[in-house]
Amino acid sequence: MTTERRKNMKKTLITFIVSVLLITAVSASFMIPASERAKEVSKAPLNSPVIDEMWGLERIDFVHYAKPVSSAKPPKTSACYKLMGVKWSTLPVSYVINTDNSQGLTAEFITSTISKSAENWDDSTSSELFNDAYSTSSLVHYGIYDGINAIEFAPYSDNNAIAVTSVWYTRVGKKILEFDMIFNSNYAWGNSDLTSNVMDLENIATHELGHAVGLSDIYTTSCDYVTMYGYSWYGDIEKRTLEAPDITGLQSMYG
Ligand SMILES: [Zn+2]
Repeated sequence: MTTERRKNMKKTLITFIVSVLLITAVSASFMIPASERAKEVSKAPLNSPVIDEMWGLERIDFVHYAKPVSSAKPPKTSACYKLMGVKWSTLPVSYVINTDNSQGLTAEFITSTISKSAENWDDSTSSELFNDAYSTSSLVHYGIYDGINAIEFAPYSDNNAIAVTSVWYTRVGKKILEFDMIFNSNYAWGNSDLTSNVMDLENIATHELGHAVGLSDIYTTSCDYVTMYGYSWYGDIEKRTLEAPDITGLQSMYG
């Protein structure tokens, strides 16, 4: 055998061994049972937006925290708005308010305040985003995927959470199908113009309705003036009115 031929044989053999190893590795990765892969997906940290998944449907929970919060560093952004990447394809969005509450708030205060918050968003886009006509019902509740965009006051397990908005959307097509909103009744709620020692309902509702239409939280301190800033506190009314970045984000979705 010439040296040249021996070299060629050696090359062929190495190529063969490498190919076998590669094929073995690739097929092994396909053999990971689905349950294992699901476990990897579910390794998302606590309070991560990725909460639930079934079929083509996904759910994202936006928890609105009281300041101060944990030392976890939020992601930086320069635009002061962030899109979820999903939006409504059928407008206007209707919602049902459950006015039951343990704080003596009148149904009139709750409905007029929340509809005013919805109108804040409506006024800044050429679309008719939220239905001007809303309904009320004691039967609707947060957290149930039932085709009803429900808003209610109820105790929420995480005491740092002032309010939570959950949004269900399709993985394929990126369409929002439903939102539900809960105002944590472990906090005092009201109108901060009258007493500063409450979570201002218009303030928080306007922020939460931003999630309902497809905007994410902003945590950058230099953006703390926007409606979608991720933290609030007693007496905060900064989020009642939309700022330029909120409007830019809104109009990029709905015109
Ligand atoms: Zn939020």
